[in-house]
Amino acid sequence: MAGTSLKVLLVSSEAVPFAKTGGLSDVVSALAVSLKQAGVDVRLLMPLYSSIQTSGLTALANKLAIPLGVLEEPARLYEGRLPESSVPVYFLANDSLYRRGGIYGDRNNVPFADNARRFTLLNRGAFAACRALKWRPDVIHVHDWPTGLVPLYLRRQESEGFFERTASVLTIHNIGYQGTFPKQDLFVTQLAWEELRDSDDEESTMINFLRAGLRFADLLTTVSPTYAREIQTAEYGAGMDGLLRERGDDLVGILNGIDYESWDPESDALIPHHYSHAELSGKELDKRELQLHCNFPPDPQKPIIGMISRLVDQKGFVELCSPGSGSLYQICTEMAVQVVILGTGEPWCETELSALQSRLPNLRVFLEFNNRTAHLIEAGSDFFLMPSRYEPCGLNQMYSLRYGTLPIVRRTGGLADTVEQYDQASGDGTGFLFDDLTPRSIYDVVGWAVWAWYNRREHILGMRTRAMQRRFSWEKAAGEYLAAYRKAIDRRRSRA
Ligand code: ADP
Repeated sequence: MAGTSLKVLLVSSEAVPFAKTGGLSDVVSALAVSLKQAGVDVRLLMPLYSSIQTSGLTALANKLAIPLGVLEEPARLYEGRLPESSVPVYFLANDSLYRRGGIYGDRNNVPFADNARRFTLLNRGAFAACRALKWRPDVIHVHDWPTGLVPLYLRRQESEGFFERTASVLTIHNIGYQGTFPKQDLFVTQLAWEELRDSDDEESTMINFLRAGLRFADLLTTVSPTYAREIQTAEYGAGMDGLLRERGDDLVGILNGIDYESWDPESDALIPHHYSHAELSGKELDKRELQLHCNFPPDPQKPIIGMISRLVDQKGFVELCSPGSGSLYQICTEMAVQVVILGTGEPWCETELSALQSRLPNLRVFLEFNNRTAHLIEAGSDFFLMPSRYEPCGLNQMYSLRYGTLPIVRRTGGLADTVEQYDQASGDGTGFLFDDLTPRSIYDVVGWAVWAWYNRREHILGMRTRAMQRRFSWEKAAGEYLAAYRKAIDRRRSRA
């Protein structure tokens, strides 16, 4: 891959293993490692939160003075490495803004009141850090709203001098979160109202970090081709669809890869029995372990449907388990199945799932975040249900394919791009897809999968083998990001 000599700075509010609230943090680190392997001089910048120990890091001598409002805010840099790689990670240290118990908000998820200040510091800090390090990136690649101002600063305050050849790329991981703040916060950024406003609506009184990035980045990417199309529609665009249609030629969908070191049934340290597509007996044993773990009768003939999810509306839980109208009760009472759900989330949903569990002997709910249970569910289940309202990429359906656990998914975003529809005539496909998000259609598609289990077992086994051989590699994704960087650099040059 021709990445040699390219310099790329990734700027992110999170990156594993240092700070994580969502999939964005996995993507940033995995992408960095793959770019490095492709020969790119890639480095990462993120805030030094209090959860990050400085003991393994090197404190750099540079003292930064980062413009914030009309004053300057002092900051320092620490340097570390991504584990098992040589990717440098710079941590932007400012005790008053970053040393507190949370990334975006407090323990109850109430956003910090000074988030506009906190993330403006990160955006402007990216430029200050590169200058201090005397390292001039060809591309600054930013992620979601927390770093959405970088492309605008590149067009304004930083358009000449050190960064005059630097291009910007913004990746949308979830358009539902945009970083909107009251107009008073405009002064912190020292940017113009016209460029930072939430919308062109006369009434608008808010600024919007993501919208600035969407308007001014040289190139936009998102995490699957289908999501790239969907966010250009009113249904999925969260108010940004008009802007994204205008920029349609600058928007590329690049499917995330998955981490096959951690998610491989042939070597997974968190599952009791290993297996491969050629030797599946271990999966039967894992199913038995899962049934025992759930206090279900260990019956190999009964299909288990697994779910691992945040318990929120985005993931289809309203249609699945709203009191009185969700389809889960009917699925569990009318079909010969066992259902296991692992997740945490909205209180109404946790309460409802607990209530359903007490009435349904074939439903087991674990209201916790537990990686070991997640691996056991992937290995031991026969089907994996993801009835998402929207899904920019989604990881669990890709893990499920690898584990031979056939996904039952709504045809949206990355789910549509990774799962192939079952063909009842030929037995082709790797899973079961449905379109409308209603309790009835969830019931119907689950019913279809269960029917195939009991009546077309040879199809199920063929699909399982096929699914396990599908690959979604980071190497391929990194190649597509490299092409996007080249395109962004070309656009930057033609603009200059
Ligand atoms: P999202 O990022 O929208 O939550 P993804 O499918 O992209 O959805 O990624 C979710 C990740 O978090 C997966 O790796 C999944 O296994 C994991 N996960 C979610 N909830 C739990 C939980 N309760 N316990 C363990 N892992 C979980």
